[in-house]
Amino acid sequence: MREYLIAGNWKMNKTPSEAAALAKEILPLVKNSTSKVMVAPSFVCIPAVAEVIKGSNIILAAQNMATATEGAHTGETSVLMLKELGVEVVILGHSERRHIYGETNEMINEKVKLALANGLKVDLCIGELLEEREAGKAEAVCYEQLEKGLAGLSKADMANVMIAYEPVWAIGTGKTATPADAEAIHAACRGKIAQLFDEATAQATNIQYGGSVKPDNVKELMAMENIDGGLIGGASLTAPSFGALANFDK
Ligand code: PEP
Repeated sequence: MREYLIAGNWKMNKTPSEAAALAKEILPLVKNSTSKVMVAPSFVCIPAVAEVIKGSNIILAAQNMATATEGAHTGETSVLMLKELGVEVVILGHSERRHIYGETNEMINEKVKLALANGLKVDLCIGELLEEREAGKAEAVCYEQLEKGLAGLSKADMANVMIAYEPVWAIGTGKTATPADAEAIHAACRGKIAQLFDEATAQATNIQYGGSVKPDNVKELMAMENIDGGLIGGASLTAPSFGALANFDK
């Protein structure tokens, strides 16, 4: 049985003191959530947030990591650094990393393998651009991102991998995929995972939806059979909104 995951991607928002304050406000609101709850602050906010959520039910995530463990990589942050700070999950391949910072499927795959080899869990983001959807290529783009992003992984590795389907045209735009449209891609991606690994692996894999998820649309999205949670940007930045999402009416 898959558990829901409600994850907040704070992106490049909040200073360390603001992030700690938000984490403090969120704690009591999510402590009885029947979903798994995760937050991904920016790198420099991780220590302050880790201190606040220590011993709680909130999973600490990072938004990215380097393709190497150490060395001459100015401006990068390594998996070893994240682990020492108590990070459990790393979000990889977010559309902003792919489309603003030019990350390729191959680079993302290197990061996926490095994270897993070092004991971090991975939340791999996939999703199509508007022009790709309009050209009828949404599924093909997601299939390619799955095939290349998960290349070289074993079935056992997949126990530590989650997927977030985030149509790029729905991120931060207020446009949400309809539950039916999102479900169609989620089901197709689950089918692809079955093809790449096996049916049991596909059934066990958590696939979240992301793209303008808000307290007022979360319930209908989560009601879809293959949607196992939400990766949430804007609506994760205030405690009442994230609290409402973490406690959505099942
Ligand atoms: C995201 O950042 O992954 C995201 C889905 O953002 P938003 O919820 O703001 O669309």
